[in-house]
Amino acid sequence: MALEILQIGNPILRQVAREVSDIEEERIQKLIDDLISLTLSANGVGIAAPQVGVSERLIIVASHPNPRYPDAPLMSPLAMINPRIVSYSQEMVKGNEGCLSVRGKRGDVSRHREIEVEYYTRDGKFHRRQYSDFVARIIQHEIDHLNGILFVDRLDGG
Ligand code: ZN
Repeated sequence: MALEILQIGNPILRQVAREVSDIEEERIQKLIDDLISLTLSANGVGIAAPQVGVSERLIIVASHPNPRYPDAPLMSPLAMINPRIVSYSQEMVKGNEGCLSVRGKRGDVSRHREIEVEYYTRDGKFHRRQYSDFVARIIQHEIDHLNGILFVDRLDGG
């Protein structure tokens, strides 16, 4: 089944997503595979489950250089389940963002340079890790999706 990426205006994108209750569930494992494929084929560097109509707290972080983000660092796609940012650096950094759910629009958004995140991976293991710069930006953007927030809500003064 091909997943469809919902576009801004769809009310699911504005919902607060619920926690994933059973990470090992077949449905969740397949969703992770499908979201990773979708992200890479769309030249995205991340996606959140609500963007395909699943209002649950699951994001994919898949930074890699591509035509949309030529300077992105390379990493293996990572599924973060029930992610929670537990601390932020005071320092903010501005960077250009786009979104697979907001076609044809980009803009500068201020994000915390460093964050510490608690999350579960698809094998059910708990992690607490620090991320910085571009990957921290992706994570903040994707967790916003879990809270019904889109990057256009955070654009710096027009
Ligand atoms: Zn997005």
